[in-house]
Amino acid sequence: MRLTTHQIKGDTPSSSFQIPVYECGPVQAETVIYLQAGMHADEHPGMMVLHHLLDQLEVADAAGLLKARFIILPVVNPLGLAHLSFHSHAGRYHPVNALNYNRGWPDFAALIASESDITDKFGDDAAANRSLVRDWLQSWLAAQTPHSALEQQRHIVMGYALQADMVLDLHCDDLALNHIFTVPQNLPEMQRLADWMGSAATLVAEDSGGGSFDEVWSGMWISLARRYPEAAWDAPVISATLEYRGQQDVSDAQGFSDARNLYHFFCEEGAIDEAPTITRPTAPAATRLDACDIVRVTQSGLLAYEVSLGDEVKTGDVIATLIQLDGDAPARTRHPILAGTDGVVFTINQMKYVWPGVSIAKIAGQTPLESRTGYLLED
Ligand SMILES: [Zn+2]
Repeated sequence: MRLTTHQIKGDTPSSSFQIPVYECGPVQAETVIYLQAGMHADEHPGMMVLHHLLDQLEVADAAGLLKARFIILPVVNPLGLAHLSFHSHAGRYHPVNALNYNRGWPDFAALIASESDITDKFGDDAAANRSLVRDWLQSWLAAQTPHSALEQQRHIVMGYALQADMVLDLHCDDLALNHIFTVPQNLPEMQRLADWMGSAATLVAEDSGGGSFDEVWSGMWISLARRYPEAAWDAPVISATLEYRGQQDVSDAQGFSDARNLYHFFCEEGAIDEAPTITRPTAPAATRLDACDIVRVTQSGLLAYEVSLGDEVKTGDVIATLIQLDGDAPARTRHPILAGTDGVVFTINQMKYVWPGVSIAKIAGQTPLESRTGYLLED
């Protein structure tokens, strides 16, 4: 297990941060698998999963079982870990510019399309095209001069992720069952991962609209193949956001078990030369992200849930009651909040005080919803 620690100069005098990067497996391996946790720094289950996966991979590496090179960033957002105030930790948005850490990553295909010296070279050799693109990305990155701490952090992260054939970004929700966001083109593999994870929902969209970290890697190859159909292209990079339950679901036992399931997945995919010791379970089939109802409230109040995680609901069922805290009868007026689709409730909220626009549940449905176009993410 090789450790490289990158330094980031902070935006304020005397401040600095570090990003640890672990690598294991053959340096020249054909396949590179990249995992990170804590991009939303207030989402800690993924860090626990990678803490245990590092141990498990180290053992496999010592036994010569690794067939892929693994790059693991278990603490990918040290900037976000620093956001402590009033006895709380908030790590979703960069406080300097309010950017969601998992949004606004570059549209690489658009950058490449503007460079005719590379696009003119695309031909009928998929491997050669892949090398051209990766080399260009490396040189593009090397030409950037990151200044702010956030730019430095993103620069380091992109330098590793661009090498990968599989990019797995570990997150969590508020109170939630395991679920996955990915692109439909990655489904055979990501359905197997969903099975291993025990994912309650696997939600697919080619472009959810936010430039999420996982999406830009698969998206680049999908977009290049579409822009240059006369050239040969391999299947896109496999990438996904893995949501490991809710923010409070952090324990050694859970982290170990989730890491073991990831390990089994890597065994089945041939990245580890070992047979899974258990049979792969079966998770529900993937559904479209635009069929997922994000239930929101339109006024402030106090929530009383009428459903639990995993409940199957029908359109119009009461998800929760909102108790209005102002108006003519403050603390005595109740408003039902209804399900917008048939499906499974897979996220709810820990905090029951809500305000206009807050989402209070996600329901994995089967039918695309008219209301769900354009930007498909929660925030
Ligand atoms: Zn997240």
